[in-house]
Amino acid sequence: MVKSYRPETLDELLEIINMEDTNIFAGGTDLMIRKRQWQGAERRFDKSVVFINQISELRGIKEFEDRIEIGTTTSHREICDSNLPEYIKCVYRKMGNPPIRNMATVGGNIVNSAKVADSLPLLYCLEAKVKLESKGGERTIAIEKFILDKYKTDIKKNEVLTKIIIPKINVIDYSYRKVGQRKASILSKVSVLLIRTDNDIRISIGAVNPIVIRDKEIEIFFVETSDVEGTLIKYKNIMKGEDDNRSSRRYREKIASNILLDFLRGE
Ligand SMILES: Cc1cc2nc3c(=O)[nH]c(=O)nc-3n(C[C@H](O)[C@H](O)[C@H](O)COP(=O)(O)OP(=O)(O)OC[C@H]3O[C@@H](n4cnc5c(N)ncnc54)[C@H](O)[C@@H]3O)c2cc1C
Repeated sequence: MVKSYRPETLDELLEIINMEDTNIFAGGTDLMIRKRQWQGAERRFDKSVVFINQISELRGIKEFEDRIEIGTTTSHREICDSNLPEYIKCVYRKMGNPPIRNMATVGGNIVNSAKVADSLPLLYCLEAKVKLESKGGERTIAIEKFILDKYKTDIKKNEVLTKIIIPKINVIDYSYRKVGQRKASILSKVSVLLIRTDNDIRISIGAVNPIVIRDKEIEIFFVETSDVEGTLIKYKNIMKGEDDNRSSRRYREKIASNILLDFLRGE
């Protein structure tokens, strides 16, 4: 029989997930969609469910001299209402709609690892790390090592993502564009983020390939040559998407290229 757990502390949570293979339930905004059967029917959970939103140790934003740490169950709304820099908040502000942003968590978006997860291009650009904890220990790994494929991460059955660590950088300016079917409550067809720091340019493209496109060699090529057309060709060569329900590969790649062209020209 499927059970449900509601631990009050991280230690209790680690005990439970060490004993049993479970579904970790944060905001539930992805999980409730993935576990649906048909209109009106109850969700089908085949494993016990552990609710984690009430664990205070897993929530909140802390700033240090060199980094920002965001607890996994911090909601998208809490990010939007925080004092974090605009280049972080602008991404979360465009996700979902007000009720979804109230429930949806920062960690849930990462662990779900959808091709269209909007926080991932941001976290790749910021070279964020995720901290994973289990009863046996803890590890901190780079976001691009954690995300293995669409809907696939490096998390183990007895681990929970506890926080996201973002190194502080000196951002000079940034450009972000998300394209979808409507203006609100949409999943991305394409998203592009360009961040200019005092010593580099970082570019991420979301929702085109199964995982985020970020290529440091192309970024360096652009900084050294300022060759807009050459840079664009290099990005086009690594776009390897596929058609899906939301749009065709051709459409995604065309729109991503147009946005990139604008950003590279500084428009
Ligand atoms: C109407 C609607 C609009 C949406 N719009 C957007 C959008 O614009 N952009 C976008 O990117 N997404 C969007 N989403 C998807 C979703 O809201 C986000 O991905 C959200 O961040 C998921 O967080 P959650 O807390 O609800 O995750 P949950 O549904 O609770 O969990 C998602 C997955 O992550 C696992 N998990 C969660 N937290 C942890 C943890 N700490 N450790 C280990 N595993 C964990 C769960 O077991 C599950 O597999 C939308 C969803 C809906 C329903």
